[in-house]
Amino acid sequence: MRRKIAAGNWKMNGLRAQAAVVEALAAEHGGADCEVVICPPAPLIPLLAGLGSGFAIGGQDCHPAASGAHTGDLSAEMLADAGASHVIVGHSERRTDHGEDDALVRAKAEAAWRAGLVAIICIGETEAERDADRTLPVIDAQLAGSVPDGATGANTVIAYEPVWAIGTGRTPSPDDIEHVHRAIRAGLAGRFGADPSEAIRLLYGGSVKPGNAAEIFALSDVDGGLVGGASLKAEDFGPIIAAA
Ligand code: 13P
Repeated sequence: MRRKIAAGNWKMNGLRAQAAVVEALAAEHGGADCEVVICPPAPLIPLLAGLGSGFAIGGQDCHPAASGAHTGDLSAEMLADAGASHVIVGHSERRTDHGEDDALVRAKAEAAWRAGLVAIICIGETEAERDADRTLPVIDAQLAGSVPDGATGANTVIAYEPVWAIGTGRTPSPDDIEHVHRAIRAGLAGRFGADPSEAIRLLYGGSVKPGNAAEIFALSDVDGGLVGGASLKAEDFGPIIAAA
């Protein structure tokens, strides 16, 4: 039985005062059955990790190297040292804004593992790819390229985030989400074997809201969500945690 995950990706949002959201969520959902992961901007990691909320804290990106001359970058080791247990790699905003390709995402996931972090590896098709009926081949190629050998349920979470659903209020139909998640699971099984693939949690991301979370999280092979905008307010993320 895979434990569900409610993960919040705050993206480039939140100053220190945003810690109040985590405190409010912890007061109401501290004993939730699901795993809660909050991924704030990196400067907030020590503050949030020090709250004793019981929630896991994650970074939003890491460099593939452990240290070195890379101005402005953060290593997975630094995130772990600051109190993170997870890190998102390969988010479509990184792939687009920073030209990250599958090979780099894979190297980042390996760096995360070396630092003892769980890698939340993001994949997802663009609207043009979807319109051209290429969703599954795109997903397959991203999985093959971005997920390193040695992925297990303990070190890896996969987030399926259709690019066109991020921040748009649009989501695929439940059938479409289930179809893609089933294909991801099958792809993982083909590569890693049935048992490891059954243990890897698959999150859906893209316009998850209080109003659609329960329906999406109930789909087979959906093990929770990676939530952007709706993770910034306790009144939105609280019901999403409850749905997970
Ligand atoms: P939204 O929930 O704002 O659509 O963002 C999804 C996302 O990109 C999470 O990583």
